[in-house]
Amino acid sequence: MVGQFIVTIDGTSSTGKSTIAKRIAKKLGYIYIDSGAMYRALTYYAIQKKYISKFHFDKKKLIKDIPNIYIDFQHNKVNNNFEVHLNGISYENKIRSLEVSNLVSQIATVVELRKQMVMVQHFLGKNKGIVMDGRDIGTVVFPNAEYKFFLEASSELRAKRRYDELVKKNKEISFNEVFENIVSRDKLDINRSNSPLIKASDAILIDTENLNLDQVESKILEYINFSNLNS
Ligand code: C5P
Repeated sequence: MVGQFIVTIDGTSSTGKSTIAKRIAKKLGYIYIDSGAMYRALTYYAIQKKYISKFHFDKKKLIKDIPNIYIDFQHNKVNNNFEVHLNGISYENKIRSLEVSNLVSQIATVVELRKQMVMVQHFLGKNKGIVMDGRDIGTVVFPNAEYKFFLEASSELRAKRRYDELVKKNKEISFNEVFENIVSRDKLDINRSNSPLIKASDAILIDTENLNLDQVESKILEYINFSNLNS
Protein backbone atom coordinates (compact mmCIF):
# COMPACT_ATOMS: atom_id res chain seq x y z
CA MET A 1 0.00 0.00 0.00
CA VAL A 2 1.34 3.41 -0.94
CA GLY A 3 0.97 6.60 1.12
CA GLN A 4 -1.10 9.64 0.22
CA PHE A 5 0.02 11.00 -3.11
CA ILE A 6 -1.30 12.94 -6.04
CA VAL A 7 -1.47 11.03 -9.32
CA THR A 8 -2.11 12.97 -12.53
CA ILE A 9 -3.15 11.42 -15.83
CA ASP A 10 -3.19 13.73 -18.83
CA GLY A 11 -3.40 13.13 -22.55
CA THR A 12 -5.34 13.66 -25.74
CA SER A 13 -9.07 12.92 -26.02
CA SER A 14 -10.30 9.34 -25.68
CA THR A 15 -7.02 7.74 -24.68
CA GLY A 16 -8.85 5.91 -21.90
CA LYS A 17 -7.66 8.35 -19.24
CA SER A 18 -10.83 8.34 -17.18
CA THR A 19 -11.25 4.55 -17.21
CA ILE A 20 -7.64 4.08 -16.21
CA ALA A 21 -7.71 6.87 -13.61
CA LYS A 22 -10.84 5.32 -12.04
CA ARG A 23 -9.18 1.92 -11.87
CA ILE A 24 -5.95 3.28 -10.37
CA ALA A 25 -7.89 5.26 -7.77
CA LYS A 26 -9.81 2.12 -6.79
CA LYS A 27 -6.63 0.08 -6.43
CA LEU A 28 -4.94 2.76 -4.30
CA GLY A 29 -8.06 3.55 -2.28
CA TYR A 30 -7.92 7.13 -3.57
CA ILE A 31 -10.55 9.55 -4.83
CA TYR A 32 -10.93 9.86 -8.61
CA ILE A 33 -11.68 13.29 -10.08
CA ASP A 34 -12.60 13.76 -13.73
CA SER A 35 -11.54 17.34 -14.46
CA GLY A 36 -12.96 17.16 -17.99
CA ALA A 37 -16.42 16.76 -16.44
CA MET A 38 -16.02 20.24 -14.93
CA TYR A 39 -15.48 21.84 -18.36
CA ARG A 40 -18.33 19.75 -19.74
CA ALA A 41 -20.66 20.98 -16.98
CA LEU A 42 -19.65 24.59 -17.73
CA THR A 43 -20.36 23.96 -21.41
CA TYR A 44 -23.79 22.51 -20.61
CA TYR A 45 -24.51 25.65 -18.57
CA ALA A 46 -23.35 27.95 -21.41
CA ILE A 47 -25.55 26.07 -23.90
CA GLN A 48 -28.61 26.33 -21.63
CA LYS A 49 -28.01 30.06 -21.23
CA LYS A 50 -27.52 30.40 -25.00
CA TYR A 51 -24.02 31.86 -24.59
CA ILE A 52 -22.65 29.30 -27.02
CA SER A 53 -23.87 27.27 -30.00
CA LYS A 54 -22.44 25.86 -33.19
CA PHE A 55 -22.73 29.36 -34.67
CA HIS A 56 -21.75 31.79 -31.93
CA PHE A 57 -19.91 32.22 -28.64
CA ASP A 58 -20.67 35.18 -26.39
CA LYS A 59 -17.63 34.92 -24.15
CA LYS A 60 -18.30 38.27 -22.44
CA LYS A 61 -21.76 37.24 -21.23
CA LEU A 62 -20.40 33.94 -19.95
CA ILE A 63 -17.59 35.66 -18.04
CA LYS A 64 -20.06 38.12 -16.50
CA ASP A 65 -22.15 35.17 -15.31
CA ILE A 66 -19.27 33.35 -13.55
CA PRO A 67 -20.40 34.39 -10.03
CA ASN A 68 -23.62 32.44 -10.64
CA ILE A 69 -21.87 29.20 -11.60
CA TYR A 70 -20.97 26.81 -8.84
CA ILE A 71 -19.08 23.62 -9.68
CA ASP A 72 -18.32 20.93 -7.11
CA PHE A 73 -18.11 17.16 -6.74
CA GLN A 74 -20.44 15.01 -4.68
CA HIS A 75 -20.20 11.37 -3.79
CA ASN A 76 -22.66 9.07 -5.56
CA LYS A 77 -23.30 6.21 -3.13
CA VAL A 78 -24.78 3.98 -5.86
CA ASN A 79 -21.65 3.78 -8.02
CA ASN A 80 -19.16 5.07 -5.41
CA ASN A 81 -17.97 7.81 -7.79
CA PHE A 82 -17.48 11.50 -7.18
CA GLU A 83 -19.66 13.26 -9.73
CA VAL A 84 -19.52 16.83 -10.91
CA HIS A 85 -22.44 19.03 -9.88
CA LEU A 86 -23.46 22.26 -11.54
CA ASN A 87 -25.24 24.54 -9.07
CA GLY A 88 -26.03 21.51 -6.93
CA ILE A 89 -27.33 19.23 -9.69
CA SER A 90 -25.67 16.33 -11.53
CA TYR A 91 -26.14 16.27 -15.32
CA GLU A 92 -23.98 13.18 -15.84
CA ASN A 93 -25.68 12.04 -19.09
CA LYS A 94 -26.22 15.48 -20.58
CA ILE A 95 -22.59 16.55 -20.23
CA ARG A 96 -21.51 13.53 -22.32
CA SER A 97 -23.62 14.51 -25.38
CA LEU A 98 -22.02 15.17 -28.78
CA GLU A 99 -23.28 18.77 -28.60
CA VAL A 100 -21.29 19.34 -25.40
CA SER A 101 -18.27 17.43 -26.78
CA ASN A 102 -18.27 19.66 -29.86
CA LEU A 103 -18.27 22.92 -27.86
CA VAL A 104 -16.32 22.08 -24.70
CA SER A 105 -12.85 22.94 -26.01
CA GLN A 106 -13.99 26.48 -26.83
CA ILE A 107 -15.32 26.90 -23.31
CA ALA A 108 -12.05 25.48 -21.97
CA THR A 109 -10.12 28.39 -23.55
CA VAL A 110 -11.73 30.93 -21.19
CA VAL A 111 -8.98 31.89 -18.75
CA GLU A 112 -11.40 33.28 -16.14
CA LEU A 113 -13.22 29.93 -16.01
CA ARG A 114 -9.99 27.93 -15.86
CA LYS A 115 -8.86 29.97 -12.84
CA GLN A 116 -12.04 29.02 -10.99
CA MET A 117 -11.69 25.36 -11.94
CA VAL A 118 -8.08 25.22 -10.77
CA MET A 119 -9.19 26.60 -7.40
CA VAL A 120 -11.74 23.80 -7.06
CA GLN A 121 -9.13 21.24 -8.19
CA HIS A 122 -6.61 22.48 -5.60
CA PHE A 123 -9.24 22.21 -2.90
CA LEU A 124 -10.03 18.63 -3.92
CA GLY A 125 -6.33 17.71 -3.83
CA LYS A 126 -5.45 19.44 -0.58
CA ASN A 127 -5.28 16.18 1.42
CA LYS A 128 -3.70 14.24 -1.48
CA GLY A 129 -4.90 10.64 -2.00
CA ILE A 130 -6.33 11.68 -5.36
CA VAL A 131 -6.11 10.62 -8.99
CA MET A 132 -7.12 13.39 -11.39
CA ASP A 133 -7.24 13.17 -15.16
CA GLY A 134 -7.40 15.95 -17.73
CA ARG A 135 -5.19 18.05 -19.96
CA ASP A 136 -3.25 20.39 -17.66
CA ILE A 137 -3.25 18.47 -14.39
CA GLY A 138 0.44 17.55 -14.36
CA THR A 139 1.56 20.89 -15.81
CA VAL A 140 -0.60 23.61 -14.27
CA VAL A 141 -2.88 22.18 -11.58
CA PHE A 142 -0.47 19.91 -9.68
CA PRO A 143 3.02 20.56 -11.09
CA ASN A 144 4.50 18.99 -7.93
CA ALA A 145 2.41 15.80 -8.06
CA GLU A 146 4.30 12.67 -7.00
CA TYR A 147 3.21 10.64 -10.04
CA LYS A 148 2.45 11.99 -13.47
CA PHE A 149 1.41 10.03 -16.54
CA PHE A 150 0.65 11.10 -20.08
CA LEU A 151 -1.33 8.76 -22.34
CA GLU A 152 -1.28 8.85 -26.11
CA ALA A 153 -2.44 6.84 -29.14
CA SER A 154 -3.19 7.61 -32.79
CA SER A 155 -6.37 9.60 -33.49
CA GLU A 156 -7.73 6.74 -35.65
CA LEU A 157 -7.43 4.22 -32.84
CA ARG A 158 -8.83 6.59 -30.25
CA ALA A 159 -11.82 7.34 -32.47
CA LYS A 160 -12.40 3.64 -33.05
CA ARG A 161 -12.32 2.84 -29.32
CA ARG A 162 -14.67 5.72 -28.56
CA TYR A 163 -17.01 4.82 -31.42
CA ASP A 164 -17.22 1.17 -30.28
CA GLU A 165 -17.96 2.33 -26.74
CA LEU A 166 -20.78 4.63 -27.92
CA VAL A 167 -22.28 1.94 -30.16
CA LYS A 168 -22.34 -0.41 -27.15
CA LYS A 169 -24.32 2.25 -25.28
CA ASN A 170 -26.76 2.39 -28.25
CA LYS A 171 -25.77 5.98 -29.08
CA GLU A 172 -26.60 6.95 -32.66
CA ILE A 173 -23.42 8.43 -34.01
CA SER A 174 -21.17 7.88 -37.03
CA PHE A 175 -17.47 7.02 -36.89
CA ASN A 176 -16.72 10.25 -38.77
CA GLU A 177 -18.52 12.40 -36.21
CA VAL A 178 -16.46 10.80 -33.43
CA PHE A 179 -13.22 11.12 -35.39
CA GLU A 180 -13.82 14.77 -36.28
CA ASN A 181 -14.70 15.62 -32.70
CA ILE A 182 -11.50 14.06 -31.39
CA VAL A 183 -9.29 15.76 -33.95
CA SER A 184 -10.84 19.20 -33.50
CA ARG A 185 -10.76 19.00 -29.70
CA ASP A 186 -7.09 17.94 -29.70
CA LYS A 187 -6.27 20.83 -32.01
CA LEU A 188 -7.94 23.43 -29.77
CA ASP A 189 -6.59 21.87 -26.57
CA ILE A 190 -3.00 21.74 -27.87
CA ASN A 191 -2.98 25.21 -29.42
CA ARG A 192 -4.70 27.33 -26.78
CA SER A 193 -2.41 29.88 -25.16
CA ASN A 194 -3.51 29.24 -21.57
CA SER A 195 -2.85 25.79 -20.04
CA PRO A 196 -2.43 23.96 -23.34
CA LEU A 197 -2.41 20.19 -23.54
CA ILE A 198 1.24 19.26 -23.29
CA LYS A 199 3.17 16.49 -21.58
CA ALA A 200 4.83 17.65 -18.36
CA SER A 201 8.58 17.16 -18.72
CA ASP A 202 8.58 14.81 -15.73
CA ALA A 203 5.47 12.81 -16.75
CA ILE A 204 5.81 9.15 -17.77
CA LEU A 205 4.67 8.75 -21.37
CA ILE A 206 2.53 5.68 -22.06
CA ASP A 207 1.77 4.85 -25.67
CA THR A 208 -1.48 2.87 -25.44
CA GLU A 209 -1.60 2.00 -29.17
CA ASN A 210 -0.86 -1.68 -28.60
CA LEU A 211 -1.94 -1.98 -24.99
CA ASN A 212 -5.31 -2.93 -23.53
CA LEU A 213 -6.72 -1.30 -20.40
CA ASP A 214 -5.35 -4.04 -18.10
CA GLN A 215 -1.86 -3.53 -19.51
CA VAL A 216 -1.99 0.25 -19.11
CA GLU A 217 -3.26 -0.15 -15.55
CA SER A 218 -0.46 -2.61 -14.70
CA LYS A 219 2.20 -0.32 -16.13
CA ILE A 220 1.02 2.60 -14.01
CA LEU A 221 0.65 0.53 -10.83
CA GLU A 222 4.02 -1.10 -11.36
CA TYR A 223 5.58 2.30 -11.73
CA ILE A 224 3.90 3.66 -8.58
CA ASN A 225 4.75 0.60 -6.48
CA PHE A 226 8.27 0.39 -7.81
CA SER A 227 9.18 4.02 -7.23
CA ASN A 228 7.44 3.92 -3.85
CA LEU A 229 9.52 0.93 -2.75
CA ASN A 230 12.65 2.66 -3.95
CA SER A 231 12.04 6.03 -2.31
O1 C5P B 1 -11.63 14.68 -20.47
P1 C5P B 1 -12.72 15.12 -21.41
O2 C5P B 1 -12.53 14.60 -22.80
O3 C5P B 1 -14.08 14.88 -20.89
O4 C5P B 1 -12.52 16.70 -21.48
C1 C5P B 1 -13.36 17.50 -22.26
C2 C5P B 1 -12.64 18.77 -22.66
O5 C5P B 1 -12.44 19.58 -21.50
C3 C5P B 1 -11.27 18.62 -23.27
O6 C5P B 1 -11.32 18.35 -24.67
C4 C5P B 1 -10.65 19.97 -22.97
O7 C5P B 1 -11.06 20.94 -23.90
C5 C5P B 1 -11.24 20.33 -21.64
N1 C5P B 1 -10.36 20.03 -20.51
C6 C5P B 1 -9.38 20.95 -20.21
N2 C5P B 1 -8.58 20.75 -19.13
C7 C5P B 1 -8.74 19.68 -18.36
C8 C5P B 1 -9.70 18.71 -18.67
C9 C5P B 1 -10.49 18.91 -19.78
O8 C5P B 1 -9.21 21.94 -20.91
N3 C5P B 1 -7.96 19.53 -17.28
